[in-house]
Amino acid sequence: MSRSRYRYCPLCREELGEEMRGGRMRLACPRTGCGFVHWDNPIPVVAAIVERDERVVLVRSRGWPDSWYALVTGFLEPDETPEAAVLREVEEEIGIPAELGEYLGAYPFERLNQIIFAYHVRGGPGPIRLCEEELTDYKEVPIAKLKPWPRGTGPALREWLAARGYHPPTVELGEEVPDGRAD
Ligand SMILES: [Zn+2]
Repeated sequence: MSRSRYRYCPLCREELGEEMRGGRMRLACPRTGCGFVHWDNPIPVVAAIVERDERVVLVRSRGWPDSWYALVTGFLEPDETPEAAVLREVEEEIGIPAELGEYLGAYPFERLNQIIFAYHVRGGPGPIRLCEEELTDYKEVPIAKLKPWPRGTGPALREWLAARGYHPPTVELGEEVPDGRAD
């Protein structure tokens, strides 16, 4: 497991212990009257299959090995719907407007304790401009040449391709996954 774990109570700074709560062992605050429990619920993430001109935009996040490219992803802002978040993330991360396509499904990504809500979006015209804080590269891959990867956003891409009659092999991204980074 590479998930980050709390050690101290974020409410009262007591050292956390383990307790059976809701059918699982959880980190919980032992101090009487505090009541903090670290439920460790999955974090929602949105992902976009950005299609334009028969190609899909894949991006490489800062810190990833050179061979890794995956879908545009991001976190939701407070009060934001997943549909709004995915369009905002596309515009922020690759600098093109996007139009919502179909919702593809929810994909658990256990290693990062995320639940990924994946969408197909149609990318608008214009040059791609990367958000350099987050991304280091992109490529636009013809749909027929896409090869999905086994975890993270890969299963959403695999199913989207299958629905269009493409059944390429699933290919590992190549190198050991560093902790704390999505693929
Ligand atoms: Zn506490």
